Amino acid sequence: MMMTKYPPTGSAAPDAALPPTREFLRHLEEQAIALRRRAAVALLGPLDPWIVQEQLGCTIVTPEAVAAMTPEVRAQVCRVTPQEWSGTGLPMPDGHLMVLLNPDQTIERARVTALEEVAHEHYGHEPTQIITLPNGVIKRSFNPRNEQEAYWTAAAALLPMKAVALAVWRGQTAVALAADYAVSIELAEFRIKILRLWPHYIRNAA
Ligand SMILES: [Zn+2]
Repeated sequence: MMMTKYPPTGSAAPDAALPPTREFLRHLEEQAIALRRRAAVALLGPLDPWIVQEQLGCTIVTPEAVAAMTPEVRAQVCRVTPQEWSGTGLPMPDGHLMVLLNPDQTIERARVTALEEVAHEHYGHEPTQIITLPNGVIKRSFNPRNEQEAYWTAAAALLPMKAVALAVWRGQTAVALAADYAVSIELAEFRIKILRLWPHYIRNAA
């Protein structure tokens, strides 16, 4: 299990919104490429977590698909907003990761949520808190730095750096880029920004 930490953990509650260092960004891109290799997707191709579940060693399920849940619990799960709970990765005894997703989120958001759970597992992040929501769903929380590392890695795996750079260079819009990779426009803009290509994007897309 890869265990790389940036910056060294131990400092109290690192601010996930802190501007990332170049080293951190490079680390994210490297690990995103490692995840894409695991998924065996083409260098610049889109990554659909559902298609590569087996390669990623996970099973993505929505609560409706969990046979053990009663209709009453399922109904409650559907009332939990993605802001409260978007997904949980549950490591199984056989090493498999079961990714339970809140069905009440867009497919674009569900993609990054699923990959974020795979990224937590990829890094071997230990949850800081495991709570059971009133509806019975298990929510695993991580420290802000680990949340940032997992989410940003998932975003980078969905939208590889080279694909973003190429799109910006061609003057493609974030809307078109997002559509090509089946991600949200917000995610495409987020990637353009953290790759420090926003000024070029504004200039080229004008
Ligand atoms: Zn997370």
